[in-house]
Amino acid sequence: MATPSDSTPVAPRLKLTLRPSAESIVRSGHPWIYSDSIRSQNREGEAGELAVIYDRKNQFLAMGFYDPTSPLRVRILHVGKPVTLDEAWWQARLDETLARRVGVAGAGTDGLRLVNGESDGWPGLVVDRYAGTLVMKLYTPAWLPRLEMLRDLLVAATVPERIVLRLSRNLEAKASDEGRSDGQILYGPALDGVVIFQESGLRFEADVRRGQKTGFFLDQRENRRRVETLARGAEVLNAFSFTGGFSLYAARGGAKSVTDLDISAHAIEAAGRNFALNQEDHGVAACEHLTIQADAFAWLENAHDPRYDVVVVDPPSLAKRESERQGAIQAYGRLNANAIRLLRRGGVLVAASCSGHVSADEFFGAIGTAAKKSGRSFAELGTSFHAPDHHASFPEAQYLKCLCLKFD
Ligand code: SAH
Repeated sequence: MATPSDSTPVAPRLKLTLRPSAESIVRSGHPWIYSDSIRSQNREGEAGELAVIYDRKNQFLAMGFYDPTSPLRVRILHVGKPVTLDEAWWQARLDETLARRVGVAGAGTDGLRLVNGESDGWPGLVVDRYAGTLVMKLYTPAWLPRLEMLRDLLVAATVPERIVLRLSRNLEAKASDEGRSDGQILYGPALDGVVIFQESGLRFEADVRRGQKTGFFLDQRENRRRVETLARGAEVLNAFSFTGGFSLYAARGGAKSVTDLDISAHAIEAAGRNFALNQEDHGVAACEHLTIQADAFAWLENAHDPRYDVVVVDPPSLAKRESERQGAIQAYGRLNANAIRLLRRGGVLVAASCSGHVSADEFFGAIGTAAKKSGRSFAELGTSFHAPDHHASFPEAQYLKCLCLKFD
């Protein structure tokens, strides 16, 4: 008797060839192939299907996840010699990825990015660890049929208490057809509320099931450590404060007061709870914690009193697409010009950008122009980019940059 698989014709392997320029880009290790770089393909592929890419001489070049619905048509998994993507292969890739994190967190830190997408060879996948909870965030549907394999690999390699699934918005409908939802627990006990984890010995809550990204901005850890060193005796303004990440470091570093400024009441309340979680630290206990729930752009536009010693400006991405780049550069200039005006003599501006479409040079240029226009003399204390657990292996993955300037 015929079984369904007998009667369903098995599609031949999806094979692609590329335009010559795209071929060299893939060979050099870049992980994305756009639809207009594809020269030929033997058939249409399905979302998440493995595509094999052949070069001009019909030799194996690479393999990746195919997505017919996205202009980013293939996300490369492997370049070089032909391989079989079996469990041993995935296991080896995870071992390499985790080996890169050894010693990165430092003492008192159990919040860390374990898997950073394409830059670690896991296109469209992020895994963040918050104490015993792993948060797996998907940016491509290709992972949906591979979730159980991923879960089993992560459980074996990291022995977590729990794994939470997060989905980028464009995946929610497709995931729901497969019984998956944003915030679903993939492994371990149910979670009602937040998880508590540590960063540099400070305790924070992360709303891993509902919060932005995976619940916290782990990428700012190194910049927060810098702020701690600048904060002794300071009055600090933390603009776009979210749950008070920079603020807790400033408080522990001896700040006299810290003011959190954010549009989200939810974020401001969480910052209050994070201060409460760290009261055993003398600096945090002694620091006055003030909050302002407001649109920070408008608030900074209208504030003129130079009464802060440190101002942190870490807005959300101001350029979600290339066409917003110029506007974003101008907005960074204006926002930071307003922030500089609030600094006392000797005050420090900590200006960060997470807009991937704005380059570090453009961002630093905009801040430099704002600093010169202030008419004050200033010195650069330093710049920073991606932390090792967020390393970016190709230009489009580089989004984070931060500049510290001290003003007379
Ligand atoms: N600095 C934070 C991360 C900032 S994320 C940290 O270290 O964790 C960006 C924050 O900007 C979010 O909390 C968001 O609520 C806030 N935000 C977005 N638009 C805003 C606006 N117009 N005014 C004030 N805050 C805003």
